[in-house]
Amino acid sequence: MNQPMTITRNDFNQWMVPVFAPANFILVRGEGSRVWDQQGKEYIDFAGGIAVNALGHAHPVAIQALTEQAQKLWHIGNGYTNEPVLRLAKQLTDSTFAEKVFFANSGAEANEAALKLARKYGNDSGVEGKNQIVAFNNAFHGRTLFTVTAGGQPKYSQDFAPLPEGIQHVAYNDLNAAAAVINDQTCAVIVEPIQGEGGVLPADVEFLKGLRELCDRHNALLIFDEVQTGVGRTGALYAYMNTDVVPDVLTTAKALGGGFPIGAMLTTDALAKVLTVGSHGTTYGGNPLACAVANAVFDYINSPEVLEGVKARHQQFVAGIEAINAKYPVFSQVRGEGLLIGCVLKDEYAGQAKQVTNLAAEEGLLALVAGTDVVRFTPSLIIPEADIIEGLQRFERAVARLVK
Ligand SMILES: *Cc1c(COP(=O)(O)O)cnc(C)c1O
Repeated sequence: MNQPMTITRNDFNQWMVPVFAPANFILVRGEGSRVWDQQGKEYIDFAGGIAVNALGHAHPVAIQALTEQAQKLWHIGNGYTNEPVLRLAKQLTDSTFAEKVFFANSGAEANEAALKLARKYGNDSGVEGKNQIVAFNNAFHGRTLFTVTAGGQPKYSQDFAPLPEGIQHVAYNDLNAAAAVINDQTCAVIVEPIQGEGGVLPADVEFLKGLRELCDRHNALLIFDEVQTGVGRTGALYAYMNTDVVPDVLTTAKALGGGFPIGAMLTTDALAKVLTVGSHGTTYGGNPLACAVANAVFDYINSPEVLEGVKARHQQFVAGIEAINAKYPVFSQVRGEGLLIGCVLKDEYAGQAKQVTNLAAEEGLLALVAGTDVVRFTPSLIIPEADIIEGLQRFERAVARLVK
């Protein structure tokens, strides 16, 4: 029989591969946008599990979907299809440009599928050497070797050389730089409509339009990595819907499962044909348990009330942060869309974003960084107004301590 065992934060250092440096407390329970640690201390959650917990914690709709499916069928493997996966594919294609879906378990895997599709598209095209991928500095696309190389932060990839070849990086939002490297050998351009990990930096709509034109001219696929911006995060169901630019391939994950791991690559009928039986695959992707939860989460978010609510909450956040900044001027800019918000530290506080989130945690607020200079909020899309107010009060206390 298992002995009940007392767990402490120190156990992390004892037993875990040290790729993370988690906070010095252990969370044990959550409800809505509040969570509690082992000592019973309460936190307001502006981190949202890194843009994942779109319905907060323990939402009844998600719990019901999970527990109902848990009693029916968890996993059968892709030799058999299942009802939840087909329902979810129908939901995703009905509500986006896409006509076909490939399911995976994470954002990185969704991007891996997108990049492999692009390479095969190029290799099948008959154009000699059409295998070049264009990506952007400071981008983040995941941690598999291919996706981490496509990401534009060499500190995450250089230790794992030799890296996959044929990926070029240029400055984000610099259309001339992109035009200089996109040519007939380009099979794909991969871009985040808002760079999330890279500092909550939105793309200019003209930049995205220009990339669309360059891809059309050179017969390259335009891939939008919407792993962070998707599923209502910006107040649109997907961020591309704010831009008039339609990608050829879109990747989605994070909020899609509301906390249950799932990712997906969306594309057109014509491009889906590039991948044939056996050319790509996954054991868990599209399993009934994950898809049943995503059915419920996606359906709940894809409503005018929830999406309008995200825009209203954006206003409330920005007004609150600006009021704090008027008292304690530490931020040079508040940017982002919907509930993907970045507070950019002024030069004199540069490098102290982590310090701010540490102080915030002491005050009872979970917040994120995006790089060393940006404090990031990605809360639940339905965070109650009262929790925003209370959370911002705690944030103000943290900022006051930073200034002191
Ligand atoms: C988080 C993220 C990923 C990676 O997703 P994982 O589920 O961690 O593999 C990829 N792209 C973007 C834009 C992300 O924010």
